[in-house]
Amino acid sequence: LKVKTAHLLLRVAALLMAIVLCLTAAQRCLSLLRVQSRRQIEQDLQDTAQQGINQLETAIELRMKFLESLASHMSGEPYPFYAVDRFDPVVSIYNAKCIGYAQPDGIACLTNGYREDISQQEFFQAALRGEMYVSDVLMTRNGEAVNAHSAPVWSTDGTEITGVMFVIYSTEVFNEMLRVGSFEGRGHSCIILEDGKLVAAFEGELQPANNNIFTGLLRADGANAGAVENIRRGMAGGGRALETISDGTRQYFFDAERVEHKPGREQWYFITIVAADVLSLRVQPIQVSVRNMLFCVVVLFLLCGLVYLWTYRKQRQELFRLAYTDSVTGMDNYSAFREKMLDGGVGGAGYVVAVDLRGFSSINNSCGASKGNELLDALGGILRSQVGPEELAAHVSRDSFVLFLHSPDKNTLIDRLQFIRGEIQALAPRMALPHLIPQFGICEVDSSDHPDESYGNAGTARLRFRDRVDLFYSFFDEEMRILTLENQQMEDDFDQALQDHQFEMWYQPKYSPQTGKLEAAEALVRWRKPDGSLVPPGKFIPLFERNGSIARLDEYVFNAVCAQQRAWSDAGLEVVPVSVNVSRASLFFPDIAERYMSIINRHGVSTNHIELEITESAINNSAEMERLICAFHSCGFRILVDDFGSGYSSLSTLTKNYFDNIKIDKSLVDCIGAPEGNSLLESIVQLAHKFHMTVTAEGVEEASQADFLVVLSCDNIQGYYYSKPLPASEFQTLLAAAAPVGQLS
Ligand code: C2E
Ligand code: CA
Ligand code: CA
Repeated sequence: LKVKTAHLLLRVAALLMAIVLCLTAAQRCLSLLRVQSRRQIEQDLQDTAQQGINQLETAIELRMKFLESLASHMSGEPYPFYAVDRFDPVVSIYNAKCIGYAQPDGIACLTNGYREDISQQEFFQAALRGEMYVSDVLMTRNGEAVNAHSAPVWSTDGTEITGVMFVIYSTEVFNEMLRVGSFEGRGHSCIILEDGKLVAAFEGELQPANNNIFTGLLRADGANAGAVENIRRGMAGGGRALETISDGTRQYFFDAERVEHKPGREQWYFITIVAADVLSLRVQPIQVSVRNMLFCVVVLFLLCGLVYLWTYRKQRQELFRLAYTDSVTGMDNYSAFREKMLDGGVGGAGYVVAVDLRGFSSINNSCGASKGNELLDALGGILRSQVGPEELAAHVSRDSFVLFLHSPDKNTLIDRLQFIRGEIQALAPRMALPHLIPQFGICEVDSSDHPDESYGNAGTARLRFRDRVDLFYSFFDEEMRILTLENQQMEDDFDQALQDHQFEMWYQPKYSPQTGKLEAAEALVRWRKPDGSLVPPGKFIPLFERNGSIARLDEYVFNAVCAQQRAWSDAGLEVVPVSVNVSRASLFFPDIAERYMSIINRHGVSTNHIELEITESAINNSAEMERLICAFHSCGFRILVDDFGSGYSSLSTLTKNYFDNIKIDKSLVDCIGAPEGNSLLESIVQLAHKFHMTVTAEGVEEASQADFLVVLSCDNIQGYYYSKPLPASEFQTLLAAAAPVGQLS
């Protein structure tokens, strides 16, 4: 749960981080865009100003040339005042208000017929000093804003100034020149001096006051003070100034560009004032499209993220499904069962039930694997249909299922299992299968925290009555708990026991029924505990078969028997072949034949004196088994089929020349006396002999059984009737009693 939460938190954090990164990147892009837009606006303003300045300079140059030509006309004119009238026709052509000539005393004659004293005017004084001059805005007597352009009139010899020629233009005309073509005609330009005084009249929203643009700005909005200060500073520094100003309602860009200084005029500044939104609108489409693009990218990114998360989730679900779903039944497998139990979503206390079908293997063998799978699928379906919320059903392996059920008491639980059992048994006729015997091992649990242990206990409970047909369920009880603990203890002690040689070999003789002579023996292991008690193999062999330790024990026994044979032989006794049990798990080691052979060689014994017993149920018809048996045979081992007839024998294996001897299981020997049993045994012995195999009868307890086996020409007999398994020392006495016919070389 902790890991899951940590993963979830990690994923959420990653997603949040991705979103934050995305937004930061978008924010950064937008701010870059804003900076870029501002730069673009500055560039636009500068370009516009430059364009205006160029236009203005060209116009002023033309006017000055015109003025110069007028002045040169006047030069040497004997009656300049009378000559002024001559210029009257060109006044309108040059878009002027009037043209005038002033004597050095300042008395001027104008084309409109007026005479004026302009001696105090700067443009007059400047021209008298020899400068070509352009005035700032002057107000006429009738309140009209004008600009005067003046030039000196030189004497014909060019040595002295004889007067001043000047042209008065309406500031309107100046304005015409300044009218900015860009900004869709919504920008306003003007020329000012450094102190803000207008050279050319201003038209637009921000009206100058007293012909001074700064006064006008401050009057329009007191908040402009800072901006005005900055503009002044920028202009005084000789550079440009760009500020945002306001008229109280609207924002404007105020751009001041220095105009190259020319003689005859003060330092001019070209001012462009344009509403902020006009300019912003120009960059807005770019901003909008970039913003849209960013939005699309972010959405795309998030979409990709979501798609990724979705597919990741799907994949995980699929992985989970594969990992936690059983392929045969489509239901949960044991891992899923385990996870769900540990998840705690099943509500604590309940019953873990191990479900098995008795004899499923034979159904599988006789009806085929696909029919077997069909049966498992149907069985899984029944179990699934019977579990409620907070209950579980899972397929463990082959015919093993597990349930987790809630029930108010044991009786109700048994009723439920009884019902399930009925449903399962009803499958047999429907699926044309032999009688089905479901078995339930039950473990009551207080919590779902230990699924493995609970399922293990339920399995133990089921194993308890595996061979009983009268029971269909069993509860894991105290006795089993103790047994489980004992088993656990034995598992823990195994390594030490091997090291300390706590396993001792007992020998059960095999006699010839005809002669009553000791012919062979089977080595049977016992565990001598440090306290001296003896544990029979039935207690630990199945346990070690389950946990895999059996292969080591088999090898240990094999080695001990070889050593014993060597010792007996060295002691001058006539040894008889001793068979050693080889469990199914040992056969999984492909090099077992070589390993056993090297043990044989190490002890210097012969394979004539060591035989191998392989239980019938361990033998399958696989190529690997064939190879193994061949390997044993080529080493010279005789192979005995153990427990023949106890399970479902495949007679075809008899035809394969796998075995040298058949050990008829006690269960068949016990049938001696019944006519069917007698004929069955007779047939088996005949069959074995036909295939050149000898026959041993196991578990012979009665004289009648032994007598019958004599009649059948059974080759030897092993059973309590002759002898129980004996400790090595007692078996040695038996050997010693036999005549010393041959010794191991
Ligand atoms: P098994 O190989 O079928 O051995 C025969 C078992 O039947 C022995 O039990 C033996 O004592 C018992 N028996 C023999 N004659 C009679 C009889 O007349 N009446 C009755 N009721 N029982 C008889 P044991 O020694 O308790 O061994 C049980 C099983 O443990 C063996 O069955 C064998 O499967 C396994 N086992 C014993 N030793 C070893 C071993 O070293 N390795 C392996 N893998 N399994 C072993
Ligand atoms: Ca045996
Ligand atoms: Ca046996």
